[in-house]
Amino acid sequence: MGKHTEVQSHRACTIGLPNGLLYAHYQVLWNSFFAGVGLQTRNSGPTNREILELGNECSIDETCLSAKLYLGHVRSLLGTCDYILVPRINSWGRQRDMCTRFASLYDLVCNTFRDSGQKFLSCNIDAGKKLTEESAFVQMGEELGFSKKIAENAYHQAKKEDENQWKLRLRKEEALYREKGIKVMIAAHSYIIEDDYYGKPIADYLRSLGLIPIRADITDRKEALKQSLKVSPTLKWEWNREIIGSLQMHREQIDGIVLVSAFPCGPDSMTDEIVSRHFAPLPVLRLVLDTQTGTAGIETRLESFADILSFQKKGGLAQ
Ligand code: SF4
Repeated sequence: MGKHTEVQSHRACTIGLPNGLLYAHYQVLWNSFFAGVGLQTRNSGPTNREILELGNECSIDETCLSAKLYLGHVRSLLGTCDYILVPRINSWGRQRDMCTRFASLYDLVCNTFRDSGQKFLSCNIDAGKKLTEESAFVQMGEELGFSKKIAENAYHQAKKEDENQWKLRLRKEEALYREKGIKVMIAAHSYIIEDDYYGKPIADYLRSLGLIPIRADITDRKEALKQSLKVSPTLKWEWNREIIGSLQMHREQIDGIVLVSAFPCGPDSMTDEIVSRHFAPLPVLRLVLDTQTGTAGIETRLESFADILSFQKKGGLAQ
C-alpha cells in the first residue's frame, strides 16, 4: 500500500489518550500532532472513583498511585479506539532522567492488557540512544502510515502550538506572585496537581481558605533546571529538578510550601526531604496521597497550615 493510500485509510482511525502521567505535559503537543495528520483522539476523561478502582485492581501494591491511576485510564479506554498511546521516555540528557516508571510504561501496559486485543502505540524518547522528541513523533507518524514529511510538518506545527500555550500558562501563573495575600507554592508533579480527583481539590481548597496557591511545575523550565543545582548538584530526575529549581527561584516571593506526592514515590521521598531542609524556615506541609486518601483528613491539615501561615504573616511567629 502506497503512503497516500495509507494516509487515506487512517482518516477514521482514533488514538486513545489516557488522562494520566505524561498527558499533563503532552496534551497540547499530542492533540495538535494527531489533528495535524488528520486523526481523531479520544481522552479517558477526568479521574473518578471508578477509574481509581480499575487501576487498583490491575496493579501490584508497590505501584505508585500515579501509575495505578494511569492503568485505570488505559483500562477505561480499552476497545474504544484503534490505538492507545503509551509513550516511553527514559532520559532527556545528562542529569535529566525520568523516573523508571516512564521508561517501563509501554511494556507494563502491553503486559498488563496483553489479552485485551487492544493495539498500543509508543513514542520513544531517550537521549542516550539519540531518540529525540522530534524523531519519536516522526517515527510514531510513520508507524501510523504517514510519510516522514507529513509527520515532520505536523510535529513542527504542534510544537509551535505547544510553546505558545505554555507561554500563556506561564504568564498567568507568574502574575500570581504579584498578587497581595498569602502565597503557597504547591510542589507536585503536573499529573498529580492536575488530577481532578486528587490534585485539583487541594488547590481549590487552599483558594477557598483565602490563600493563593501557585504551581511550582509551571515555571521557566530552563532556568529552573539551572537553579536546581544550587539546591542539589547531584539530583538527576528532570521533573523533580524543575520543581526544586522553581522553588529556589521564587523562595522570597512565597509564604509556604505544600509538597504533594503519590505513595510510594521514590524520587519524591528523596526530594521532599531536601525541600524540607533546604527551604527552612519556610513552613512546609507534606501530603502523601494513596488510594485510601480521603478529603476530610487533607482538609483538616490544610486548614491548620493556613492558620500557621496567617499567624506568621501577622508577625506571630519568631522568624
Ligand atoms: S515520579 Fe513518583 S509518582 Fe511519578 S511515576 Fe515515578 S514513582 Fe510514580
